[in-house]
Amino acid sequence: LLNPIYKINMFIESYPKGMAGFRRYIEFLETAPEIADHPEVKAIDEIDGEITFKDVSFGYAENNRALHHINLKVRPGETVALVGPSGAGKSTICSLLPRFYEVNEGSIKIDGMDIRDFKLQSLRSHIGIVQQDVFLFDGTIRENIAYGDLNASEEDIWYAAQRAQLTDVIKALPEGMDTLIGERGVKLSGGQKQRLSIARIFLKNPKILILDEATSALDTETEQAIQQALNELAVGRTTLVIAHRLATIKDADRIVVVSKKGIVEEGTHQQLMDRKNAYYGLYTAQFGLQI
Ligand code: ATP
Repeated sequence: LLNPIYKINMFIESYPKGMAGFRRYIEFLETAPEIADHPEVKAIDEIDGEITFKDVSFGYAENNRALHHINLKVRPGETVALVGPSGAGKSTICSLLPRFYEVNEGSIKIDGMDIRDFKLQSLRSHIGIVQQDVFLFDGTIRENIAYGDLNASEEDIWYAAQRAQLTDVIKALPEGMDTLIGERGVKLSGGQKQRLSIARIFLKNPKILILDEATSALDTETEQAIQQALNELAVGRTTLVIAHRLATIKDADRIVVVSKKGIVEEGTHQQLMDRKNAYYGLYTAQFGLQI
């Protein structure tokens, strides 16, 4: 089964083709047909980014619960890493926040307001998602960084590129920002694509970030550049990291261990290592005992 965030993004992102498609993509994001706003929803311009999951249960199918009674509070600006075995529900927790799916029981709030009371477009404008599979459409580097934002200035786009450590890559391309990429243009490497997706988020500047940790094999140098760009991206944003490799999330403010039964443990890396329980088990399974 496909990871829900991946699936939804593939669905949204396989939509556009070329420039005409790019405009359609924007319309599509604005209409987002699958979930309707109720009449009283509000567009909220500014949020602090506090996230609260209160007794959230969810199943993709009836009688088959993927999440059981999840309670989680994330402070504004806090980085929380979700760890746990495959199928525990880490991606599912994250995909409920932008309302890719609706909770069956309980509620999710941002700054104390139920996410169902946000205008969907407004809710999603506050959330950025970085994941391993980056969608690029046939267009220039500039259009691909600006993505849905037709009002982005040249200065903003270069700033985003610089924060994502992409400036040198762009300058080395035959036509710089105007270089065509995608099927009909230059092929970017996996690491370059990933940094382009990070530049998009810098430009969008959302208060909430979901990082679906890359697991693809990148060379060490590229991986370090990406990790550094991601660390910078997370500053000042409430960040949920879906972590597969525990080495990358040791410094998270809090690590939450998810199992099929719900959240089983939480704390800092050191606290959880000292406790010698679920996290300790996952960690030593990945790294042996050299801690
Ligand atoms: P991984 O580490 O492998 O990414 P995860 O902890 O993120 O796993 P989820 O992908 O959230 O786990 O999956 C939780 C449960 O929901 C699993 O039993 C999975 O099979 C199921 N599931 C996930 N996505 C879907 C979907 N689109 N349709 C039906 N079931 C799904």
